[in-house]
Amino acid sequence: MEYLGQLLLIAVAIGIGWLICFIQGRVGQTARAIKRGGEYPKSLQYLFEAYDAPTLDSFVQELEINQHTVQLHLSIANFFRRKGEIEKATAIHQNLLSHPDARIKHGEQLTYELAQDYMFVGLYDRAEALFIELTASRQWRKLSTECLLEIYEHEKEWGVARERALTLDVKRDREVQIRLAQYCCEMAERSMRRKEYSDATRHLREALTYDKFCARASIQVAQVCVATEQYPEALAELKRIEQQNPVFLSEVVGLVREICEKLNERERLLKILQRMWELQPSAKVMIALSGALNENENTEEAIEFLLQQLNAHPTLGGVKALLVLLGPYADPEPKRWIMIVKGVLEALLEKNHSYLCESCGFSGRHLHWQCPSCKKWGVVKPLPWV
Ligand SMILES: [Zn+2]
Repeated sequence: MEYLGQLLLIAVAIGIGWLICFIQGRVGQTARAIKRGGEYPKSLQYLFEAYDAPTLDSFVQELEINQHTVQLHLSIANFFRRKGEIEKATAIHQNLLSHPDARIKHGEQLTYELAQDYMFVGLYDRAEALFIELTASRQWRKLSTECLLEIYEHEKEWGVARERALTLDVKRDREVQIRLAQYCCEMAERSMRRKEYSDATRHLREALTYDKFCARASIQVAQVCVATEQYPEALAELKRIEQQNPVFLSEVVGLVREICEKLNERERLLKILQRMWELQPSAKVMIALSGALNENENTEEAIEFLLQQLNAHPTLGGVKALLVLLGPYADPEPKRWIMIVKGVLEALLEKNHSYLCESCGFSGRHLHWQCPSCKKWGVVKPLPWV
């Protein structure tokens, strides 16, 4: 065993020595060896990632371009890109593209990598032109189209994004369906801001043809109905969320209240909130329901309901709602204290992150239909008990 241990130590020492020699000045020699000797060991590709940028820079300048070294050049360029040294990555990609052998055999991959460099530094026009070129390639069509969608999303060119997404497999690709529906919702939002409600409705109907589970589309249709004073229709639209994605019911509590107030239907509001509570209990629905019970002159029932629920789901919003209900029954001094505590709770609630991305874990205070972190659509969900 002792003998084996000594052998192992010698092997490690030789390895370290080789690495030191390599880093200290044999870069050119190794590059020339690879140039002469054909294929480089695959493990070398991983080893490069351990070296510093100047070493790799001088190495890549020495390294000839041939069919055996193209992947190594690409690997080093990726290393530079990951380190944020895009100029060096771009220079390698452009150098490879100018070489006939590399261009003929790896032209599409090189174009894709160069486009990624441009995208990385925000040269979207250049990246777009290259990705469009690549959509003619069967192998690179899907990847380059997805990169184009990223560019159009960044630039909020929803109509262009929609057209491009339609070239993908809309029937079978669920991700594409979700994206298309969200693009239509974005276009509808623009129309709504301009008060072009029929345009907005057209976009939203289209959204639902791509993704019938798009709760955002139903919420926006309801908003259009409210803006055009079609209140019963708005409630019918909001009911669709029960089938689409009930987790978003808590997001429409305010809208439901607004509609029922317009219709002057307190009882109806209570029934809708009770149904929401049965389907998808959440802090927002709990607070709205206790408020509706109170407005229907069932204050005791409202307090009892809150006390029971706060036992199971203690939330700051719930405590605040309870204090609001108890306030009118308190003597002047306790009432003053209630107001102070209520103010503290409101300040704490301001800091609460009540939305969470199911894909990357991003959390925030507002609902984003596209996650600001991972850029996926429809993955940020309201947390029920915040
Ligand atoms: Zn995310």
